[in-house]
Amino acid sequence: MFYYSTRNKNNAVNFATAALTGLAPDGGLFIPQEIPLYPENVKSSLGTMNFCDITFETIKPYVHTDISSSALYDIISSSFTFNAPLIEVLDRYAIELFHGPTAAFKDFGARFMARAFSYLRRGEDKPLRILVATSGDTGGAVADGFFDVPGIFVTVLYPKGRVSPLQERQIAGLGKNISAIAVEGSFDDCQRLVKAALADEELKKRMALSSANSINISRLIPQAVYYSASAGRAFAGRIDPDGDATPRVVKEQITINKKHPHLPITLCVPSGNFGNLTAGLYAMKMGAPIKRFIAATNINKTFPDYLDSGEYLARISQATLSNAMDVGAPSNFERMSAHFSLEEMRRIISGVYVEDKETKETISRIHEKSGYFLDPHSAVGWKGIDKLREQNKIGSEEPAGVLCTAHPAKFAETVEPLAGMPPIPESLSRAMDRSVNAVTIPAEISALLDEIS
Ligand SMILES: *Cc1c(COP(=O)(O)O)cnc(C)c1O
Repeated sequence: MFYYSTRNKNNAVNFATAALTGLAPDGGLFIPQEIPLYPENVKSSLGTMNFCDITFETIKPYVHTDISSSALYDIISSSFTFNAPLIEVLDRYAIELFHGPTAAFKDFGARFMARAFSYLRRGEDKPLRILVATSGDTGGAVADGFFDVPGIFVTVLYPKGRVSPLQERQIAGLGKNISAIAVEGSFDDCQRLVKAALADEELKKRMALSSANSINISRLIPQAVYYSASAGRAFAGRIDPDGDATPRVVKEQITINKKHPHLPITLCVPSGNFGNLTAGLYAMKMGAPIKRFIAATNINKTFPDYLDSGEYLARISQATLSNAMDVGAPSNFERMSAHFSLEEMRRIISGVYVEDKETKETISRIHEKSGYFLDPHSAVGWKGIDKLREQNKIGSEEPAGVLCTAHPAKFAETVEPLAGMPPIPESLSRAMDRSVNAVTIPAEISALLDEIS
């Protein structure tokens, strides 16, 4: 498999180069030359294969020229030490993506990426510096994924005062090879600084640099896995028992749901930078039984507006309760539009946006009705399905599922007053005990260069 830049189809590189450089030299994003198809026998058994095997079959065609099958198996089994339960909550499915160490879906991509980097750089003695901008959850997942990985240093940039106390401890509490920079500005500023630093010729001469945002293709590909796994299981009617509103990793128990036999599912993706949705589109194109997608945003609704008007207007991001989605200029838009025309996007994606007061109302209502806790991001996704059902864009009998992107306890300051205190996973209580160790800089490239040079 080759990868080329969204801005230039002539310069093909292999997976190792695409992953380790992050951003293409012309400022574009790497995309695979084609989206591979699942072999028939894999496609027909997505509902019954175990998670590790689905992971292997999904990632292999993207990386097989650079990572041997046995190495890939090792990388996968040490990355995915948790799974993504598909459960039923009221009138829909919830796909719980928050059972990894930092309690958000980004653990899937970040852990795979860290282990893949370590493998691809075997035998290399020059240290690698990874720069990552975060609106909250990426930083923690990447820091955790790379913590203590030899030869790799990670610098996380986050918008000062705009991440939760827990997120800040996940980002700036680890130390060792992980350093944290609080930027006086927004997430978009952080992202801009990272892009500028990655393009800085002087800096590149002095150190090996890479990025770990969802612009990095090695983080995006592993995210296709849980789409295929959950759509496959929903299609086969095999759901996991729920955790009695106290979400937990499920063992091998399953229930057969006869309500929606063999109907492809509509999936609602709470979106910010659109890495998650792009990975979902890959899974769909590979052959996972997905009918269509709902892209749900908070009031940072650049993408829903684009689907409506056909015009892409990036804007300044605004702070909301679902802070990991406070993105006014979604970086993966460039990737999506390199793969799909506006017409095609309109066919397979519906856009919807949700305001903070609706997010809050959803968290209280769903907890009251079912005992299930939604975090503010997942609540945006839940409400997105409600809205499209109201507009009759999805039928009430059609199977629909929401991607639950973070554990409710990760956003306890929002959830607790609305629904009471959700159970706290052990990894989060451990993180809360750490102290914050970050430097603060203004949102200027010179300040960042001073800091990392
Ligand atoms: C990052 C994040 C999102 C947004 O995902 P994108 O891939 O940036 O669209 C949604 N919810 C949570 C909890 C996140 O951490």
